[in-house]
Amino acid sequence: MGAQQDVASILLVTSEANPFAKTGGLADVAGALGPPLRRHGSDVAVVMPRYRQIDLSRLTPVIPHLPVALTDTRSYATSVYSAADQGVTYYFVDCPQLYDREDLYTHEGKDYEDNYLRFGVFSLAAIELARHLGTPRVLHCHDWQTALVPVYLKTRFARTPALAKVKTLLSIHNLGYQGLFDRRVLRELGLGDAMFNSEQLEFYGKVNLLKGGLIYADRLNTVSPTYSREIQSPELGFGLDGLLRKRSHVLSGILNGVDYSQWDPRHDPHIAANYSAEDLSGKLACKQALLREFGLADSCLTKPLIGIVSRFDSQKGFDLIEEVAGDLTAIDGALVALGTGNPRYEAFFRNWAAAHPDKIGVRVGFDNSLAHRIEAGSDIFLMPSRYEPCGLNQMYSLRYGTVPVVRATGGLDDAVDESKGFKFRESTGQAMLSAVLQAVNLFCRDPERWRTMMRRGMEQDFSWDQAAAQYASVYCELLHPDPTA
Ligand code: ADP
Repeated sequence: MGAQQDVASILLVTSEANPFAKTGGLADVAGALGPPLRRHGSDVAVVMPRYRQIDLSRLTPVIPHLPVALTDTRSYATSVYSAADQGVTYYFVDCPQLYDREDLYTHEGKDYEDNYLRFGVFSLAAIELARHLGTPRVLHCHDWQTALVPVYLKTRFARTPALAKVKTLLSIHNLGYQGLFDRRVLRELGLGDAMFNSEQLEFYGKVNLLKGGLIYADRLNTVSPTYSREIQSPELGFGLDGLLRKRSHVLSGILNGVDYSQWDPRHDPHIAANYSAEDLSGKLACKQALLREFGLADSCLTKPLIGIVSRFDSQKGFDLIEEVAGDLTAIDGALVALGTGNPRYEAFFRNWAAAHPDKIGVRVGFDNSLAHRIEAGSDIFLMPSRYEPCGLNQMYSLRYGTVPVVRATGGLDDAVDESKGFKFRESTGQAMLSAVLQAVNLFCRDPERWRTMMRRGMEQDFSWDQAAAQYASVYCELLHPDPTA
């Protein structure tokens, strides 16, 4: 088959994408995949809702009127705009009554009650856009918000000739979020109450939108190979492990990439001094600046400095830190943490720092620039996650020569090997403490081996090009299935 015929037209269907709207890692993936996919020969576009924060006056109108019929009696008038970013076309579905709101999914800690409608309409609009464009051959969907795309395609549009050959890939970025709603929403979404059974969208008395996508999508993937296995187990399957085991033949794991234009100490504008694997001297300046920023003593400069940047969420394993906080404080070193989220952990960290202001520094909040400075200035980066679909900070840490200490789960396990970091398996405070102590001991007793470890990590490449190559081959398999398989 000629290369030209292999060029696949991909539409990324996503509820968020950098640089337009972001609440989490999904936006990074959706915003970063386009350019390298294009280099791999895929013709890529992205479609997402036009939220309030996306300035309409900067967009180009494309389809002034794209009606979306949810049911026989209920339609939404949407229109489509576009913009280009790094050579990739972004389509925005505009429907002010659904998306012109202060936040993306939740407001003041509460989910918008009509989220099923907002993303049901968006999923249908994406399909209508694909039909209008006529070119997309793969709709690459993400998480529960767009999980209805494969459901609608395989049911309502099953006999629509223009869409008959369109394939779907559903990426799971975090199985913990499934889009659970009351039974009545099925009818409102035009899917029919008959789908309320355990073989379809029913899930313990609720409607589970992600489950629908997992059943109907042609291919499934998650954001790391280890997580793709873990979600097939009862421990991390969130009740969907049986279904995922059943579909394991179409499920794969592709580790997210890192945007090295933003995260590289050689040219990072946020840090006190730039440095590289060849010349590490700037890292000490970064450490000194970081200690000062947190009001920690200069005498800590020669001692191990542990860094943490995270959402303060129970997923991230902060209860382990709480459990052995006394032992961590007893280490002859210092610790800085940046995070926000669960008030319980915010209070824990604040109190910890207040009790030991000379060695524990804490900032509660979201501060991207400080996150860079912690990556650059720390010696050790701690990630004790209970589960971690992919995780980015461990990959940033490796590039910054900040040796990661991670729980061996999901993308942490995949990205960190023992020649470049420290891993612990059991989700206990003692297991974490013992890995931290190993790291601290090596740092203090064998600086030469420590530097070798740092350099090995710094040389590792997690660029998006590699991830995009793997996505390109999944698209290719979708479009040219192996007849013998
Ligand atoms: P998750 O998506 O589960 O939050 P990831 O490790 O995949 O975890 O991505 C988290 C991203 O958000 C990283 O880029 C990290 O640096 C950033 N981040 C998390 N919390 C904060 C914070 N409080 N301030 C600045 N950046 C943060």
